[in-house]
Amino acid sequence: MSDASTDPRPDESLFDKIVNLSKRRGFVFQSAEIYGGFRSTYDYGPIGVLLLRNVKDAWWRSMVQMRTDVVGLDASILSPPAIWEASGHLKNFTDPLVDCRNCGARHRQDKLDDPDVCPTCGVKGQFTEARQFNLMFKTHAGPMVESAAEVYLRPETAQGMFVNFSNVLNTSRKKPPFGIAQIGKSFRNEITPGNFVFRTREFEQMELEFFVPPADAAQWYEYWCQTRMQWYLDHGMPPEKLRLRAHDADELSHYSSGTSDVEFLFPWGWDELEGIANRGDYDLTQHAMHSGDKLDYFDQETNTRYRPHVIEPAAGATRTMMAFLLAAYDEEDVRGETRVVLRLHHRLAPYKVAVLPLSKKDTLVPVAQEVLAMVQPRWMCDYDETQAIGRRYRRQDELGTPYCVTIDFDTLDDRAVTVRERDSMEQERVAIADLVSYLDERLR
Ligand code: ATP
Repeated sequence: MSDASTDPRPDESLFDKIVNLSKRRGFVFQSAEIYGGFRSTYDYGPIGVLLLRNVKDAWWRSMVQMRTDVVGLDASILSPPAIWEASGHLKNFTDPLVDCRNCGARHRQDKLDDPDVCPTCGVKGQFTEARQFNLMFKTHAGPMVESAAEVYLRPETAQGMFVNFSNVLNTSRKKPPFGIAQIGKSFRNEITPGNFVFRTREFEQMELEFFVPPADAAQWYEYWCQTRMQWYLDHGMPPEKLRLRAHDADELSHYSSGTSDVEFLFPWGWDELEGIANRGDYDLTQHAMHSGDKLDYFDQETNTRYRPHVIEPAAGATRTMMAFLLAAYDEEDVRGETRVVLRLHHRLAPYKVAVLPLSKKDTLVPVAQEVLAMVQPRWMCDYDETQAIGRRYRRQDELGTPYCVTIDFDTLDDRAVTVRERDSMEQERVAIADLVSYLDERLR
């Protein structure tokens, strides 16, 4: 735990700035806006879809592509009650719900600053007894609404990895320690969704289940805590806005021998980005008991059979995307004007390159198209030929585009373009013939 007196202060004003930028520039829109908006659901616009995809790709790259001990999975979202019966979600995946008798507002009791005071109306002592509210969305598969066809939308991706443990083991030639990774949508009927995309009822997760010999679990837990912290730092999170917080004993689930949260300093204070848990053999044992499948591993070298323990780093993709946006947002004074710039890590930037002909004149457009055709197969590019060049640069700054390539009238003579770098705003003249290697060196 960090000492509160030395904590950096959250910047409350950042929240509105990010929500406004998201709407203005096409990162995130309120869902069903033309019908008045569907509360707490969001659509990712042309820029947001790229940023979110880059966050997920960056995770997949380091968790799957760059390792030999992790394989991927994409399990179904619809799932039968048997899975949730075994996992304990039907019984235990609940939050304590309280109603305020004074104003009628509903709150999640465990998230209240003062469990006796309603944050909506400020009145004390008017809460009802807490009721346990199950967060899973239930629906029906097939044309008949009958109990036999009840299905659930998964509230986490993790169970897909546990129920496919044998399938993956038998087909992937992996053995513990090894992991199964998955990125996908999850659904929770949250009592109090809010804070923009921080807590929504439909969201995306990035989860790894890492199966290890029981004796090595504590060591792997430490490894994953450090590795996951490093991932955020490697992708540009400022260290002073990131911390690893170990759960106290009374916060731990009964099966967990250790859980730590990666926390980010959001505009409202420290809050969770990812949980890393040492889950023991709870999940495989539960599914083994309920399904009859053994869900264990026979180690031919030592001639022993054991049920692996699991270390689970579970992150939210949409929540992490928001944190990267908040961390990257910067305002600076440039010749008396405020420049808004997203200092996103290159790997996360929605567009890597913007191709900008100085004017829409017929003479420049063919060269600009030629330049675009060179860079587009390699990087996600924007092409923009309207407005004054200064305004186009500002727009790209707000999107976090690392490089703008401008084609001007000199280009027609010298076959060179101006490359402007986002953070320093420095400009350099680069021959068209060298452009791809110039950008490749810097964007690698
Ligand atoms: P919380 O205590 O905030 O409800 P949790 O501890 O139940 O979250 P986990 O079950 O550990 O969350 O899920 C792993 C990750 O999935 C979280 O760290 C978070 O990033 C993301 N996540 C969970 N619920 C939501 C949600 N409703 N909206 C967006 N992201 C979510």
